[in-house]
Formats: sequence, structure tokens, C-alpha cells
Amino acid sequence: MDLVSRKEWRAAAPTGSYTSVSSTRGVKVHYTGGPVPARIVDDHKLCVEHVRDVQRMHMSGGRETAYIDIGYSMVACPHRKVFMGRGPHRLPAANGAGFNAGHYAVLLLVGSSGFVEPNAGVLHAGRDAIEYLRKQGDAGPEIKGHRDGFATACPGGPLYAWVRAGAPRPGGAAADVDGGDLVAKLPLLKVGSEGWDVKTLRWLLGARGFPPVDLWSTEFDADLREVVVRFQREQHVDDDGLVGPDTWSRLMRV
Ligand SMILES: [Zn+2]
Ligand SMILES: [Zn+2]
Repeated sequence: MDLVSRKEWRAAAPTGSYTSVSSTRGVKVHYTGGPVPARIVDDHKLCVEHVRDVQRMHMSGGRETAYIDIGYSMVACPHRKVFMGRGPHRLPAANGAGFNAGHYAVLLLVGSSGFVEPNAGVLHAGRDAIEYLRKQGDAGPEIKGHRDGFATACPGGPLYAWVRAGAPRPGGAAADVDGGDLVAKLPLLKVGSEGWDVKTLRWLLGARGFPPVDLWSTEFDADLREVVVRFQREQHVDDDGLVGPDTWSRLMRV
């Protein structure tokens, strides 16, 4: 991960002590909710300025109360760099009152105008931040959008779709071999599903070292769901037992 330290972005020192958290259920993804100039993709200096602005705004009471520091745990920029915000094991202040203890807060520098379509760099950086918080901050497997459980447009349409897909890395191996289209055509499988796609699922799990009980069955039963959940946990995706685009693309990655 290409980390931008607080020293490197010339962060102001916090004005109080952080509340520590030993672990969280996962991570919530945010966008800026305001304009981000489209030319940010050509100039990393603008990212640094933007992060400094967010910190100033948060510490000066722009979000109702003055925060002791930038509210986010980490910030991902379009140049695949990750800015250290409050960091792991510290309570963020960006998810809304009462919602902070459950999830770390990761801001992706994507706006509601200007730079609105996330590029590969910012998605990779977002994923890097999530993986870092899992390793260093005991973040659990959940990946949610700010709007989950809270009345806000954040993180905007494109990022929310990415979150719903499990925050996958862009252009994974499956997409490289033109599997992107294929994955899009595969059905969502869950307990009760039936057909040849279920058998395909069983064989792919077997090929990945998760042999299900019956390789030939075309029924998605509770036993198969258990195997899917184990695979999803190993892959650090939402362990919901549903086989959608994110799980399919991981199964098909060579
Ligand atoms: Zn938000
Ligand atoms: Zn940048």
C-alpha cells in the first residue's frame, strides 16, 4: 500500500485524545459529498490540499460539532495512495452519531460533481485501505456505504454500486480474460437455487481447494452454503452465502 503519512500531508495535530476501538464489524465507504475537480486525476497535489481542507472543515465545526481531528480513518486518492487519517484502533467521527463504533470510515476522493466516476486508482486505494484496516485494525468483513442505516446520499451512486459488489479490485483476472461480461451474465445463486450453474459453482469451489460434499449436485443446499461462506471468509468478502458478481469473479480468478 502506498501510504501518505500524516507528516507527509502536514496534518494538524489532534486537539484531544482519540477513543480507542479494539475491532470493528468492518468498514464504511464515503465520498466527499461536494465538488472534486476533474483535474485531480492529473495532480496529486490537489489530493493533499483536499485532505487538508477536509481536516480543517472537520476541526472547525463544519459538521455541527468541532472534531478533534479529521473524521475519517483513512482517505483513498485517485493516484492509488492512501492517506492516514485517524488510523486503526481509533474511533472515527464520520459515520454519524451512534454509528462510528461499528465501522472504520474510509473516504474515497470522489465528488458529487466534477470527479464523480471513480477511476481504477481510487478503487485500488480504497481496497488497499480496507485490507490495511483489516490487518492493522481488526476490521471485520463488512463493507458498507455511509447510507446503510443512515439518511445520506453518501457515498454516491457509482461508489455505492462498488460497495454493494463487495468493493472488488478493478480489472481483476476474470475481467482481463474477458470474464467481466461472463460474470455479469451469471445468476445470483443462493440456497434453493437449482441448475447447471450450481454444479459450475461446486466445481469452481473444488478447484479453489474448497471441495463441496457432492460435486455433481445441481441443487444449492445448506451444505453448499457453508462451503461458500468459508470461501468468502478466506477471500475477505461479505460472508453472506450469496454467490453474486464479486464471489463469482473470485471463484473464476486464475
Ligand atoms: Zn459519508
Ligand atoms: Zn492523489
